[in-house]
Amino acid sequence: MSSNSLVELDRLHLVHPVASYRGHERAGVRVLKSAKGATVTDSTGHSMVDGFAGLWCVNVGYGVDSIVEAAAKQMRELPYATGYFSLGSEPAIRLAAELAERAPGDLNHVYFTLGGSDAVDSTVRFIRYYQIARGRPAKDQFISVEQGYHGSSTVGAGLTALPAFHQGFGVPFHWQHKIPSHYSYRNPVGSDPAAIIAASTAALRAKVEEIGGAERVAAFYLEPIQGSGGVLVPPPGWVKAMRDLCRELDILFVADEVITGFGRTGPLFACEDEGVVPDLMTTAKGLTSGYVPMGAVFLSDHVYDTIADAAGQGVVGHGYTYSAHPVSAAVALEVLRLYEAGLLENGRKAGARLMAGLHSLADHPLVGEVRGRGMLAAVELVTDKARKTPLPAAAEPARRIFDRAWDNGLVIRAFANGVMGYAPPLCCTDADIDAIIERTRMTLDQTL
Ligand code: PLP
Repeated sequence: MSSNSLVELDRLHLVHPVASYRGHERAGVRVLKSAKGATVTDSTGHSMVDGFAGLWCVNVGYGVDSIVEAAAKQMRELPYATGYFSLGSEPAIRLAAELAERAPGDLNHVYFTLGGSDAVDSTVRFIRYYQIARGRPAKDQFISVEQGYHGSSTVGAGLTALPAFHQGFGVPFHWQHKIPSHYSYRNPVGSDPAAIIAASTAALRAKVEEIGGAERVAAFYLEPIQGSGGVLVPPPGWVKAMRDLCRELDILFVADEVITGFGRTGPLFACEDEGVVPDLMTTAKGLTSGYVPMGAVFLSDHVYDTIADAAGQGVVGHGYTYSAHPVSAAVALEVLRLYEAGLLENGRKAGARLMAGLHSLADHPLVGEVRGRGMLAAVELVTDKARKTPLPAAAEPARRIFDRAWDNGLVIRAFANGVMGYAPPLCCTDADIDAIIERTRMTLDQTL
């Protein structure tokens, strides 16, 4: 089919996720055709380094035959098995065990979803069940962090704190609350780590009081590094301080590792950086590296046991047709093998090169801040460095930066507030990383 007719069919029929519908109809779709390693090629034959791993997900890179073979083998053998009625499949059971073995602390129980949004959604259901089961039904309020992203389900979009996910939808709900982000480049308390940690813990205490005390609060959600908010890296010790405060207040602590999980920041899970063990943890993306859909909720022993004991022989009514899908599980097992056969190690090396390369751009007149950890990074653009004047907060300048990078052979995420986001595949070679840096510099020069 010709590119022109695809563009027209797309315009008429395909509703895109998180898009300006009318803007998209005007601009038209760009069709990606093929990919290998860290390189993607569009339908015009234009090749680019994928500096964003699809949507922060293709951690292993594209075109890995062993993953294709694992999926095909599973499809031939057993393409589907439900987990209902106490049925199961070997890959799903093995995957749960392998993940539990590697997860922090006592996160020993794994519930599989189709992605990140329904993983977050599932945590809310599990947490409500848990709090009711332990005789605390009034604990029905949830707190998350401004600039946070927790997906686009009806419930998760309310824990998300990005305006586009609320406007026009009638969310967040009255039981969903936020505290300010740690965003150190633009924090009213300045960039001193101790001051930011003190401000955040004080904000959480104040929010809990405002809601009616800890006896009303079920859980607190954070991302170890805020992704969709613009790759906002908290100061060292921030995640641990928030975790400790939740324990003190008897509030469940949920780490949303949908982006940061599976090697993106260096270790398998970013919580490991601070030795933090959450009560619940959500993952997706890197779990299958985007080859097939899958997410996973990790439940600690005490959360799982409380729910299981309360239900007794009764049913815990939460599940999907595609929970623990055997093909997704077979893919995830192979992806996990690849992480440990050298991919995590390569990601750590490539991440150091990426961060060094991006920092070498810090003296560019447009660069306000370079931040990140491992293979997760951002360059925040400003029009005046001294005043930290942001680029106009409109879709258009971001679109132009995205387009220029694309023409230069680089896929990045261009956030509406002038932040360039990076999450390349962990398989990147030195040459891939150097191309990302060089093409970023070209894009910045053209943006001056
Ligand atoms: N949580 C976080 C931290 C995310 O970044 C995302 C997606 O980017 C989600 C949840 C939702 O995941 P999905 O898009 O797979 O539903």
